[in-house]
Amino acid sequence: NLSERLEAVYKKLKGRGKLKESDVDEALREIRVALIEADVSLPVIKDFLAQVREKSIGQEILKSLTPGHQMVKIVNDELEGLLGDEVSPIRFSDQPPTVIMMVGLQGSGKTTTVGKLARLWKKEGKNVLLVPADVYRPAAIEQLNTLGRDLEIDVFDAGDEKDPVAICTQAVQQAKKELRYAVILDTAGRQQIDEALMDEVRRIKEKVEPHEVLFVADSMMGQQAADIAKSFQDAVGIDGVVLTKMDGDARGGAALSIKNVTGKPIKYIGTGEKLDALEPFHPDRIVSRILGMGDVMSLIDKAEQAYDLEQREELGRKVKKNAFDLEDFRDQLLQFRKMGSMQELLGMIPGAGKMLKGVQIDDNAFVRVEAIINSMTPHERAHHNLINGSRKRRIANGSGTNVNEVNKLLKQFAQMKKMMKKMSSGKMGRFNPGSML
Ligand code: GDP
Ligand code: MG
Repeated sequence: NLSERLEAVYKKLKGRGKLKESDVDEALREIRVALIEADVSLPVIKDFLAQVREKSIGQEILKSLTPGHQMVKIVNDELEGLLGDEVSPIRFSDQPPTVIMMVGLQGSGKTTTVGKLARLWKKEGKNVLLVPADVYRPAAIEQLNTLGRDLEIDVFDAGDEKDPVAICTQAVQQAKKELRYAVILDTAGRQQIDEALMDEVRRIKEKVEPHEVLFVADSMMGQQAADIAKSFQDAVGIDGVVLTKMDGDARGGAALSIKNVTGKPIKYIGTGEKLDALEPFHPDRIVSRILGMGDVMSLIDKAEQAYDLEQREELGRKVKKNAFDLEDFRDQLLQFRKMGSMQELLGMIPGAGKMLKGVQIDDNAFVRVEAIINSMTPHERAHHNLINGSRKRRIANGSGTNVNEVNKLLKQFAQMKKMMKKMSSGKMGRFNPGSML
């Protein structure tokens, strides 16, 4: 797998200061193979490798990373950069109904995805109307009606109307009248891109002005999926992508290619034929899938742990200069949570034992402390003394806690800082968080 190959490439390099051109190129060849295996399209691979190359050459190797680790980290970060680093939910309109239009080739999974989304939203108490606009295949309309019956979700009755544009227009009007939360239009697809299909989809879009056009792509189509996405993007315009059949052995290359050619976020993935098999798209998970499953991720975890070591040294310097602030404190808590066993670890931060005296240590307590710090502005985190009464109320509201809890945290943090100061002033020996944590 990729991580092993990169390790091999870099074995001989250990200890050198910078990533050199020839070393990077050797690694890029390995990465290229991994991306081809994942079915990423060639132009995308080419762009991507050029980017990674530029980022890598001459980069200082972090003290604690081997060049192999460093390369994997760059590749990982670049892939995540390409895919976006967070989930992209559907944007609902302030003025219901939100109109969602599904487009894509026949068999890509449009109708199934309509059912999955509707099921999800129904569970959230949203009132949804489904619209069968695939008028060419009676079976398609029947499929949606069956879904609607099973899910107990209303399906628009088009009567004798055969024009998809008219059906969609009427359905949206009805949804407005009925104060529906969302309408999902299930449009027709063909085996292949053709002008008549694109023209129809475009006319529906112009007439109905949907809030979101979701392109549904079959991930098993690999590279081809990107070309189809591009056609829909150019001819119709899309706002997001649903990648279906990710339960198969597709390695996720389609995600990268589609995002790259359309620039649109992948919002959901379909992971099975059943109606609960829909998940928000997490770029980081796909990245590890593309690079060769978990191996690379565990390698990166290792690299990041090493990276954390450097951060700890940085932390030590901050403590010495008395510049340790609430943000650092929160980062430390996050680190601990990643590592598990809270109780044990906390005893090791100076002052923390006191801070948590008599407190039942459970993960919840930490989540609350984190929430409080997250609700502060960066400025407040750096200057905890400035947090006055009204700010405390805002922070408490924002974090779903109360002013008492905010007060307690601030007081304890102040005590902790005092303790740190004492320790680093020499009386209690040299303060070295690296050895403590
Ligand atoms: P449409 O023509 O675009 O409306 O496609 P359909 O929704 O009718 O789906 C075509 C086929 O793909 C059906 O057999 C679905 O059960 C199947 N399908 C859809 N989504 C998924 C998925 O995420 N995983 C798997 N394994 N099958 C899927
Ligand atoms: Mg269909």
